[in-house]
Amino acid sequence: MSKILYVVIPCYNEEEVLPLTKKALKTKMETLIKEKKISKDSKVMFVNDGSKDKTWDLIEAYHHEDPLFVGVKLSRNKGHQNALLAGLMTAKKYADITISMDADLQDDINVIDKMLAENELGSEIVYGVRSSRKKDSWFKRFSAESFYKLMRIMGVEVIFNHADCRLMSKRTLDELENFPEANLFLRGIVPLIGFKTSIATYDRNERQAGESKYPLKKMLAFAWDGITSFSVKPLKMITTLGFIMLFISIIMIIYTIIVKILGNTVDGWAFIMLSIWFIGGVQLVSVGLIGEYVGKIYSETKHRPRYIIEKELN
Ligand code: UDP
Ligand code: MG
Repeated sequence: MSKILYVVIPCYNEEEVLPLTKKALKTKMETLIKEKKISKDSKVMFVNDGSKDKTWDLIEAYHHEDPLFVGVKLSRNKGHQNALLAGLMTAKKYADITISMDADLQDDINVIDKMLAENELGSEIVYGVRSSRKKDSWFKRFSAESFYKLMRIMGVEVIFNHADCRLMSKRTLDELENFPEANLFLRGIVPLIGFKTSIATYDRNERQAGESKYPLKKMLAFAWDGITSFSVKPLKMITTLGFIMLFISIIMIIYTIIVKILGNTVDGWAFIMLSIWFIGGVQLVSVGLIGEYVGKIYSETKHRPRYIIEKELN
């Protein structure tokens, strides 16, 4: 028996692109159903993230015209990550597998076939990875790729060039539900779930219509959220910096003593010099130490699951 697939699409002010997306997905889904790759109960789920334009009216109209399309309406704009989560958690009540993608058709929808094939081979999570970004503007490409690199440096485990286009099985969605954190950064959480995973590559297209809903300001906020929700490295950096200061203060002690002996100093100079470096170092180490505890408290408050059991032989 073929599986029920829900394609989950968060939409924020997407009235311009939605008609194109709907058409493309209808053709795709009908083909997949005909080829028996997915069940006939499969759906496309649009999540309206508090759009201010006619997005929701369109979703309602699509649903009345064709039961393939279903919709979820959030009470207000909650941001891409929350809208996506809302869609996934609603879809998992009915679906065996979900695939999330953006409303603007930037992710080539033929990746669905690849993802389903990987799922057939046993992967419970399939990450969509952009094989090229030729169509993105220079700035978008640069900022996006720096983002993934920075995340790595900061010790956050993310898949390079994977955005939120991914297949997830119902089981992995049930596990996702156990991550109750408020600052949602799905790209960081999903790899923590584990299970058998794989990658499906696709070409990234241009946005089909409308404008990007991720201006630079939102992008920076998103990256900052990703780092501070997943890594205590910035806190640890304070401690490191403190030790460097203390080390410099040792060098300064030697230097100051030498200069003092040579007698080229004003009264009190040595004392002030040493104090500045030494106290600076001590203070930074202390702040870093407090940071260590804050980091621990922070990870405790996230109440993340400590482990996830994949199989039990009994
Ligand atoms: N989106 C959303 N809520 C928001 C902002 C964006 O649901 O507050 C959706 C948007 O409709 C789209 C997806 O998130 O489906 C990705 O946005 P966009 O394509 O504008 O981002 P970009 O590809 O430019 O990074
Ligand atoms: Mg886009």
